[in-house]
Amino acid sequence: MLKRISKQQSKHPNSSTKRAKMDDMSSGTESDYAKYWIDWFLEIKGNEYFCEVDEDYILDRFNLTGLSQEVPQFYAEALDMITDNLDEEALTDKVREQIEKAARHLYGLIHARFVITTRGLAKMLDKYKKADFGRCPRVLCHQQALLPVGLSDIPLTKTVKLYCPRCEDIYNPKSSRHAAIDGAYFGTSFPHMLFQVHPSYMPPKSFERYEPRIFGFKIHAIAEQHRWQDRARQEFNDKLKDDDEKDQA
Ligand SMILES: [Zn+2]
Repeated sequence: MLKRISKQQSKHPNSSTKRAKMDDMSSGTESDYAKYWIDWFLEIKGNEYFCEVDEDYILDRFNLTGLSQEVPQFYAEALDMITDNLDEEALTDKVREQIEKAARHLYGLIHARFVITTRGLAKMLDKYKKADFGRCPRVLCHQQALLPVGLSDIPLTKTVKLYCPRCEDIYNPKSSRHAAIDGAYFGTSFPHMLFQVHPSYMPPKSFERYEPRIFGFKIHAIAEQHRWQDRARQEFNDKLKDDDEKDQA
């Protein structure tokens, strides 16, 4: 298991140690590298959509109002873990794991609040510019960069989706790791808030539409012709029926 440092243990962390690389925590490799919790969390495969929440923001208790109800177990410990103030040496593996789980959830909930602040929007804008959230799969959107969006602000209801500002539609993330992330960690307002604050990054709307064709003919035109033929046939049949009835009368 990866060992992290807490602030009491290291007041002047060696930056190379802090940024020590570890590719994938799920591989379970034993490692002596130490690093801060948030750095460690952000480097886990599948967490690429998250930005780094400023420590000042987390430490301001006002910003966390109400979150203790969302994390009923180990809230204080989870918060200490996120801010590297938890003495993990004293914990059993089982308890540490539970706190870890609570810490991830708490970080997600704080993240949702942070990304709609001026500072959070700026951080997410940088990621959008690098297309960290992927690109629109729609051909006529021409590789438009996407933004994460939640379909609900209530945790544990809907997974995260990707919003394309060009076609104004939403898509499922390609990777199963991303597709499993809670949408409430980004929220329903985030991408729209981003373009409100940074309107120059709003791409032009896509008016280009794909036209289905069969042998070069627009299907719409063919369908129109078929409908006209059906109508004409029906009118002809009705007329024949009328004439028959008149003859019998
Ligand atoms: Zn699109």
